[in-house]
Amino acid sequence: MIILDNLPGRKERNFPLRDLTTWKIGGPAELIYWPSDWQSLAEAVRLAEAASLPVWIIGRGSNLLIADEGLPGLTIVSTDLQKIAWGDFRVRVEAGYSLARLAWETGERGWKGLEFASGIPGTVGGAIIMNAGAFGGEISQSVVRVWVLVSGEVLELSRAELQFTYRQSSLRGKAWILEAEFIFEPGDRKGLMCIMKNSLAKRKASQPLNLPNAGSVFRNPPGDSAGRLLDAAGWKGKSRGGARVSEKHANFIVNTGLATAADVLGLIGDIRNDILKKFGIDLQPEIEYLGAGGSV
Ligand SMILES: Cc1cc2nc3c(=O)[nH]c(=O)nc-3n(C[C@H](O)[C@H](O)[C@H](O)COP(=O)(O)OP(=O)(O)OC[C@H]3O[C@@H](n4cnc5c(N)ncnc54)[C@H](O)[C@@H]3O)c2cc1C
Repeated sequence: MIILDNLPGRKERNFPLRDLTTWKIGGPAELIYWPSDWQSLAEAVRLAEAASLPVWIIGRGSNLLIADEGLPGLTIVSTDLQKIAWGDFRVRVEAGYSLARLAWETGERGWKGLEFASGIPGTVGGAIIMNAGAFGGEISQSVVRVWVLVSGEVLELSRAELQFTYRQSSLRGKAWILEAEFIFEPGDRKGLMCIMKNSLAKRKASQPLNLPNAGSVFRNPPGDSAGRLLDAAGWKGKSRGGARVSEKHANFIVNTGLATAADVLGLIGDIRNDILKKFGIDLQPEIEYLGAGGSV
C-alpha cells in the first residue's frame, strides 16, 4: 500500500464509504484521501497508478451505489477542493465546490445559467462528469473550460473539446476534474431566486427527501419517463431487503435503514426485467455502481 504521509489533507484506512454517500450504502475504502489542493490530488493519483492500485474519485456520493465489499486501492474525495475565483459574469471553481451553493450564489448576483441546479446535491466535478440537469437546464450550457488530470498530466480543455449528452460527458471514466470555469448571462435577481425556490418546492413535493436515496435511479427513455413506467408496472412500495421503491416517486429507491448494495442491485435487476417484459423498454441506470465486481 502506498504512503501519502507527505501530502496535505486527511487520510484514513478502512473508512466506511456509507458515510460518504447519500444512499448510506457502501463498504470500506481500503485507503481514502481528501486532498486539500489539486497538486496533491495529482500526486496521490500518480503514486497509486505507479503502484498499480485501483483509484476511485467521489464527490458528494449523490449518484453512487458503492459495493458492500467496499473499494480496494485508493479512494479520493474531492470535497476539500473548494477554491473559487469570481470574475465578470464568470467564475472559476474547484471540483469539490457544491453545485447547489454555486447556483444560489450566482443567482444572488443576478447571473443566469445555473438556476436549474438549486436542489442538486452534488459537487461541480460530479455534475460535469454526469452532465447534471433538471427542469430543462444542464450544466453543459454554462461550462466554458475545465482543468483535468489525464494519465498524470494536467490538461486545460475548452468547451469545444468536450462532448455532453443526456446525463453523460466525454470525460466520464477518462479524466479527473480538478477545476472548471463557468460563464453566465445577465438576469433578474428576483426572478432567478423565485425560479430556484419554486424548483426546491417541487422537489420537496415530489421526491422522498426524508429517506436516504441517490436521486433518479433510471434514465428517462426517449419520449417517456422512467417513473411513469415503474408506476404503471406497479413497482411503487415494492422492496428487496432494506431497499424500497418509493411510494412518492417510483424512480427513487430509498434505503429504509439497513439496505445493502446487493439489495439495490437485485431490485434494479428485477425492475429492468419486468419493464422489458411489459413495455419492451430496456431501462438504463442513471446511478453509477462503484465496486470491484462490475457495473449495473
Ligand atoms: C435527492 C437527489 C436529487 C437529485 N437530483 C438530480 C437532478 O435533478 N439532476 C441530476 O442530474 N442529478 C440529480 N441527482 C444526482 C446527483 O446529485 C448528480 O448526478 C450529481 O451531479 C453527482 O455529483 P456528486 O459530487 O455527488 O458525484 P458522485 O456521486 O460522488 O460521483 C458521480 C460520478 O462522478 C465521478 N466524479 C465525481 N467527482 C469527480 C471529479 N472531480 N472528477 C472526475 N470524476 C468525478 C465519480 O467517480 C462517479 O463516477 C440527485 C441526487 C439526489 C440524492
